Amino acid sequence: MIKRSILFTAGLLTSALALSQDSDFAECKARISQRAVEDNLPQWIAQDLVASLNIQPRVIELDRSQPEFTQTFGDYLNQRVTTFRVMQGRLLLARHHSLLDDLTDTYGIPGRYLVAFWGLETNFGNYLGNMSTLDSLATLACDNRRSEFFTGELIHAFHILNDNEFSPEDMRGSWAGAMGHTQFMPSSCRRYAVDGDGDGKIDLWNSIPDALTSAANFLQSLGWKPEERWGREVLLTDNFPYEEAGRNNRKPLSEWRNLGATQTNGAALPNLNMQAAVLVPAGHSGPAFLIYDNFDVIMRWNRSESYALSVGYLADRIGGAGTLDNMPPEDTAVRVADIELMQEQLNARGYDSGTPDGVMGSQTRSALREYQRQEGLIPDGFPDPDTLNSLGIDGYE
Ligand code: CA
Repeated sequence: MIKRSILFTAGLLTSALALSQDSDFAECKARISQRAVEDNLPQWIAQDLVASLNIQPRVIELDRSQPEFTQTFGDYLNQRVTTFRVMQGRLLLARHHSLLDDLTDTYGIPGRYLVAFWGLETNFGNYLGNMSTLDSLATLACDNRRSEFFTGELIHAFHILNDNEFSPEDMRGSWAGAMGHTQFMPSSCRRYAVDGDGDGKIDLWNSIPDALTSAANFLQSLGWKPEERWGREVLLTDNFPYEEAGRNNRKPLSEWRNLGATQTNGAALPNLNMQAAVLVPAGHSGPAFLIYDNFDVIMRWNRSESYALSVGYLADRIGGAGTLDNMPPEDTAVRVADIELMQEQLNARGYDSGTPDGVMGSQTRSALREYQRQEGLIPDGFPDPDTLNSLGIDGYE
């Protein structure tokens, strides 16, 4: 009996929720319709298509989902740069070499990088995503979290539909609206997508030349420097001043050489007039990287240092390089709740890590680095067990 009444109540709540969602969604669709009219989209889109859009509760669920653990750099890298993906990438680099060579000539992006993005975004087209792009964007546009951004993306998606001969059912992709082989958002698609195969239509789903040409055009527009690498793995001496690590601390290569950074074979860093920063994504016991301006270009595609390192490393491997000299250690993943606790502890001690949110952002890293320096720990800005324990956060060793 009790179970039944709980079910009954839950059923009532669900339908009440659905009802309020339905009426909100209808209001929201009216707003979208208005925006489409203002943007000079035709009647069949502004009225009929908008009316047919469906809310997708799964999209909100995915948007709200919070992981319990932070992902370690080692896990991130190992999941994305697999032997299979390296081999597949080498195969595709060879198979598409004439297209890729043309793109290098025209846009200045070496083919191995284009193939690396392709591999990371959709496993070379094997996971394009199968959610309706229009429904996903409409759902997020009608949710209060980032309504304005996703309304804009939805309007861009309508224009793509209007300018090309797709049916709305053809526009499918990730739950957050990214589309095609290289997962372009509609705004990037409109700004940077190119008809690579010259058939008069931009098709990022079914045309590999369109997708890769668009990626090359996008990277060139983001500021890619044709003559430079993304960065490289380096070795650091034991007494390296780890407080100097971090993406925003750019110095000439010669200064890093003086501070004790060498190539992985021990040779001196090349004597080039370049600015670089040092990253230690798994702390002082993991690999160290020197990153150049093209690393920032990759981060303009996706604002994650781990992503950008994976693109660079996968590109190197596809181009024939071996594995990292110093593979990241198998660290224990830290609970998101413990990162939040760590941020509270840092703030309480006067190291400003910002509003505790469980995310290891740059402000948290620099607050942690300063704390480690003051406490005589290695100031690498990495939440290793010693550091966590010293802040009273137990359960890591
Ligand atoms: Ca085309």
